[in-house]
Amino acid sequence: MKIISNKSKLIKFTHYEKNIGLVPTMGAIHQGHISLIEKCISQCEKTIVSIFINKPQFNKKSDFQKYPRLLKKDISILKKFKVDYLYLPSVNQIYPNGSNKNIKISSFRKKLCGKFRPGHFEAVVDVIDRFIKIIKPKNIYFGEKDMQQLKIIEHFVNKNHSKTKVIGCKTIRDKNGVALSSRNFLLSIKENQIASKIYKLIYDNKQNLIKKKLSLVSVKRKIFMLGARKIDYVTMLDINKLTKPYKRNNKYKIFVAYYLGSTRLIDNI
Ligand code: AMP
Repeated sequence: MKIISNKSKLIKFTHYEKNIGLVPTMGAIHQGHISLIEKCISQCEKTIVSIFINKPQFNKKSDFQKYPRLLKKDISILKKFKVDYLYLPSVNQIYPNGSNKNIKISSFRKKLCGKFRPGHFEAVVDVIDRFIKIIKPKNIYFGEKDMQQLKIIEHFVNKNHSKTKVIGCKTIRDKNGVALSSRNFLLSIKENQIASKIYKLIYDNKQNLIKKKLSLVSVKRKIFMLGARKIDYVTMLDINKLTKPYKRNNKYKIFVAYYLGSTRLIDNI
């Protein structure tokens, strides 16, 4: 595995490659990332994984500061999986003239996390746009764990980078149902157990919610009772229409964002 920080060097290595797959990450590599990487390796001739903790997408300085940084461990995991290139760009290489505040993205940004994290999705799309321009990947891989992010990026890439295809990958969970996330490294054992109970509560009640035998308000109350400190949202959406569902429809997902202590977790079930 070649580890590259310099943009020109990366371009020199990848210039003649026709079938590059890119897996963008913020590091603290876990099995969720690995599932994207394995899919990429199986579909592309060269696999590039990037690790870049993108400061502009964080709404709070403290969230950025305490984001897990485990580079040594990440490198040894990525080597094992035979990743071709690990791209570790510096902030200056990505933002030589600062971030793009005027980027146009799908109106889906206004829902769910977008309401609670102003500018977050614009910053995510901005950095992905920059990676695509440098690497020119044939495929770029994202997890359904961050469904809103996946849909917004898919919309943007289809519109602006016709040679790149966005590939969505299933959410990977631990044995207790908790969706894997780098932020889980910040949870205590007790908080991890609460996350598992919240997953089970939603999973077990999904059909009742769809059939309106149970209300989202009562699920919200139960999530608080299980130990969430704050809930940004619990809502049901049709992921194909990206609108509130109506009548009979079997494409529902329950989207949730809540805090355990100071750690914000999201999921869609
Ligand atoms: P992150 O490092 O959190 O920015 O995640 C990098 C990529 O991995 C994003 O496309 C995420 O959606 C994806 N990802 C993170 N956690 C999971 C998971 N549990 N299952 C599948 N994909 C995931």
